[in-house]
This record gives sequence, structure tokens and C-alpha cells, in this order.
Amino acid sequence: MTTSGSNDYATFRRALRRAAPTLRRPLPWIAHRDPWAVLVAEVMLQQTQTSRVVEPWERFLDHFPTPTSCANASLPSVLRLWEGLGYHRRAKALHEAARMIRDEFGGEVPSDVEDLRRLPGVGEYTASAVASFAFHRRVAVLDTNVGRVLARALANQALRSNEAVSMALALLPRNDVAGFNQAMLDLGAQFCRSRPLCATCPVATHCRWNLEGGVDPAPGSAGVSRPQSTFAGSNRQLRGWILDELRQSAKSKRQLFSALAEADPSRCELVLESLIRDGLAERRGRMVQLAGSSDER
Ligand code: SF4
Repeated sequence: MTTSGSNDYATFRRALRRAAPTLRRPLPWIAHRDPWAVLVAEVMLQQTQTSRVVEPWERFLDHFPTPTSCANASLPSVLRLWEGLGYHRRAKALHEAARMIRDEFGGEVPSDVEDLRRLPGVGEYTASAVASFAFHRRVAVLDTNVGRVLARALANQALRSNEAVSMALALLPRNDVAGFNQAMLDLGAQFCRSRPLCATCPVATHCRWNLEGGVDPAPGSAGVSRPQSTFAGSNRQLRGWILDELRQSAKSKRQLFSALAEADPSRCELVLESLIRDGLAERRGRMVQLAGSSDER
């Protein structure tokens, strides 16, 4: 692998730090001091666009300002607050994580990456992001945005996973690691996107791909996700519709499927079964309801 030398790293690092204030996005969880607020934001951001997370994040923290308040609540009340975010398995996992934090960590979000990785729904990226942003641990935060920046600006070639990790670690500055990680995320989100905005990018004069040219190395590089499949007409959309109906009230299958008049009943049946298997919905006699609703009575 041909990679940048330490001088190139230092030059790129300086350029990024100079640009950081202009890259900063006005998002309420950035530089937030409460680890729970950071953890909730990172879980919500896993598969949902940033702009769609702000309002649900504020609503969620209003209801559950601490891990223990979330742990003590019922699953349906957590699922109701997940409205608009999709991928509801994350809500169930976050509820379970809150219970583990209450029961095993004295109600405090742990600060070690290894402990964070034990929480349901928390993978390598989320654990590193919480450790860095909430606890200022010296860890690299490597998501799809950062993966693109590394492949293009530093390597100008697609990276394997171990190469991306060592490059991200080698790039970390001595001080203010959290601020640097945030700047990498901001650069990837605002300029080094799938379709990059190189003409106005503030680090363009230090970017290898921009200077050397060639095929875009980001697609297929480690950490860089593929575009999501179309949402309209997908089972993901139907899962959301079914849960929206169940958030309002328990329903018989007939009521439920007639409320989803546009969807094919056999597909509704399959999607409902998948929600039951995932522990998000349950049967109660002839009715279907949000999982855990019986415990609320
Ligand atoms: S110049 Fe283009 S490819 Fe390089 S970091 Fe900026 S946006 Fe990404």
C-alpha cells in the first residue's frame, strides 16, 4: 500500500485543524458534556440522516434524561419516542443498553471502549464516538465519512479495514483528539461526501486524490457504506407504517392491514412476523400491539 508519510499527515492535520471552526455543524449533541446524551445521539445517527435526528433526540432526552429513567420505562414508551427514526431495533437495543448501564455500571455510561462495546446495539464506531466525544479518550472515530476522507485525502487508494484503522490512529493529534475527530466527521459530511465538493473543500490543496487524480478510491474502501436501497415501497417503510399504527393503539390484524390499505396483505403478514421476531410487536389474543404493552397495564 502506498500511503502518505508522517510529514503529509502533519500537513493534513494542520490544514484540517485550521478549517475545523468553519466546518463545525450546529448540532446540539456536538461538544455535549453528558455521555448519555452523546450515546443516544450516536445510536440515533447510526442509520438515520443527521437532520432527522435533532428533534427526536431532544424529545427522547426530555423524557429520559438519564440511563436509569430510560431503563425504568417500558419498551413501548421507548418505541413511541422513536417515531420518525426508523430501524426500530435500535430503540429496543438502546432500552436494553440503558438497563445494563443501570444494573452493571451504577447508572453511569461507561467510558472504556471495551465496556461500551458490551452494551446492546453499540458497535465499534459508536463505542469510539462516545469514548472520544463524551470522555475525551484517545481513540480514532472511523465511520463512513472518515473512511472516505482517509481513502481519498491520505491514501488515494481503497483501504482495507486494518489499514484504515492504523491510518486513522496515526493521524490523531497529541491534543484535543475529540475536536480533531469531530473535524474529520464534519469534513466528510460537508465536503468529502459520496459526490465530493472538491472545488470548495478547505483541505483540497492537501488532498492526494485531488492533487494526483485517478479513480475515486472511496467506494469499496473500509468503513465506507454502500448507498441504502430505495426507501419508498420497501419493507423498511412498511415496518415503520405498522409500528406507527401500533403506537396509536393495539389492533386486530384486519384493522391493522386495512389501515395499510396500499400494501399487499401477504407482504404485511411477513413484515409483521419480522417485527414480532425482533421483539418490537407482540400478539395478545386476536390483537397485535407494541411489544411489552401488556406490562404497562
Ligand atoms: S478535496 Fe475532495 S476528495 Fe479531497 S478531502 Fe476535499 S472533498 Fe474530499
